[in-house]
Amino acid sequence: MVGNYDVLIIGSGASGGTVAYTLTKKGISCLMLDAGPVIDYARDRALKKVYELPYRGFGTPGRFPHVTQASEFNENLWADEKQNPYTYDPNDPYYWVRVRLVGGKTLLWGRASWRMSNFEFRCKDHDGFGENWPLSYEDLAPYYDKMEPILRVAGRKEGLPQIPDGVFLEDTSRDSESVSRFNDAARARAIATTKSRRATGTLASSLNLLLPPAIESGYLTVVANAVVSRITTDPNTGLANGATFIDRRSRREMHAKARVVVVGASTLESTRLLLNSGLANSSGMLGRYLFDQFYVKDCVEAVVPEARGKRNAYRLMGGGGYIPQFRNLHTKEKNFIRGYAVDYGSGGAVPARYISAYGEELERQAAQLSNARFSMTVMGAVLPRHENFVSIDKRVQDAWGIPALHIRAHYTDNEFKMAEDAMNTLDEICRASGFEVIAKHPHMVPPGESIHELGTCRMGHDPKTSVLNKWNQSHDIKNLFVVDGSSFPSGGPQNPTLTITALSMRASDYMAEQMRSRNL
Ligand SMILES: Cc1cc2nc3c(=O)[nH]c(=O)nc-3n(C[C@H](O)[C@H](O)[C@H](O)COP(=O)(O)OP(=O)(O)OC[C@H]3O[C@@H](n4cnc5c(N)ncnc54)[C@H](O)[C@@H]3O)c2cc1C
Repeated sequence: MVGNYDVLIIGSGASGGTVAYTLTKKGISCLMLDAGPVIDYARDRALKKVYELPYRGFGTPGRFPHVTQASEFNENLWADEKQNPYTYDPNDPYYWVRVRLVGGKTLLWGRASWRMSNFEFRCKDHDGFGENWPLSYEDLAPYYDKMEPILRVAGRKEGLPQIPDGVFLEDTSRDSESVSRFNDAARARAIATTKSRRATGTLASSLNLLLPPAIESGYLTVVANAVVSRITTDPNTGLANGATFIDRRSRREMHAKARVVVVGASTLESTRLLLNSGLANSSGMLGRYLFDQFYVKDCVEAVVPEARGKRNAYRLMGGGGYIPQFRNLHTKEKNFIRGYAVDYGSGGAVPARYISAYGEELERQAAQLSNARFSMTVMGAVLPRHENFVSIDKRVQDAWGIPALHIRAHYTDNEFKMAEDAMNTLDEICRASGFEVIAKHPHMVPPGESIHELGTCRMGHDPKTSVLNKWNQSHDIKNLFVVDGSSFPSGGPQNPTLTITALSMRASDYMAEQMRSRNL
């Protein structure tokens, strides 16, 4: 296929997009292969009324059993589960949420953008569990500094060590009265709060912000509908020399050549590709240490009493905020290590499932509560464990004949106790804020559903216990890089994408330097 490129990039989402953005700026020619088509908003989007949809917006039954985020309004955006099967033990379901489009999951992400800190990068020094990262916050900080303006992250500088400040568009918006009450009650318990930090601008996606400048440079060729099945190596040198891919529609197999291969197909797809290629696994660690963040959605459901019966509670309701990790920073919990964060929001209708009434009485009470809701979601750190892993399930293949993944992920007591603590703490804060707590629970969504799957191709100093070095470079094959969340040795409660992009940019700078000095 298509001639010789300096760098082949597999995947066009947050990680692959950042690599293309960074390398093309330096005049390095890149070929990008992505399994999905290009979405054309003008052509592919039709606004319809809910009663015009066959299932009234609830979604085609059985089409997305593992994607709770899918609805009839957006079902064309998610990767088809029949074409892209995977397996798990029925006792341990895993909800793998995928997007196969040019731009990847950044077409749909919530844009929450937090830095990680040395509480994560130096986690073993802090609490003795797992492994430290082979790099520190100070190594990554210059890249966070560069990525935040590209993604146009807005937020407030708070001086909190667990979520270091960055190069933000300053968020000067006011807090509503209910949010201020919640913040004060949290602060009275030595729990910090802040405004959400979010990438702003239309979608803030790879498709809008990272790929256009790379394409305009003339150094990037993007091939859509190219499902990569295998990374290939030169039999003489053992070095990567390109990849075999299958055209999604014609099913023709082709090969692309390059001097350096970068994998950014998203955490589990990248590891699946390496496992199917039989590469980069001298440590035996490829596939191991899968983790994500556990979510307890609507952990505490509260009502702001003064907002009852008021459709438009001006200044009282609206807005929201974020509690960054506060457990196990400077003190030690008895029941669990690491910690959790919380997203909270004021306003909106209380869901009918929380109202114990029927018929007209349900309608009356729902109307009373139509803008009185105060809700929150807990996001907790999950420990990376050897026994949580992915492997190839040889019995199952995708629509292109590529062997599928088997996923094994199981939460443990550390996560369960953390969720319990979150529920009790939030209940206490809500009551101290003068809110009525109408429901609470500590039940996590299944592993995977947070869409923050991480690990399985982890970085580390020791080639015996890790797959990549501190530059996201394979210990085994020096011209092979893996830049997405699979490289994380551990995580915190922060959403990971900003860190994925910072790592990708750092790896790209190193790659360019090594190519210049002919080490690659
Ligand atoms: C609804 C939603 C909300 C989210 N909210 C947030 C948030 O608020 N904050 C946050 O930090 N993160 C959030 N995320 C997660 C975030 O989108 C991901 O962390 C990020 O996009 C990961 O980047 P990536 O490059 O690893 O993978 P992706 O962005 O998924 O890109 C991977 C690309 O690789 C392609 N690909 C896969 N397999 C192959 C193959 N075999 N051959 C060729 N191409 C392949 C795919 O088509 C895709 O385009 C959210 C995700 C979703 C879906």
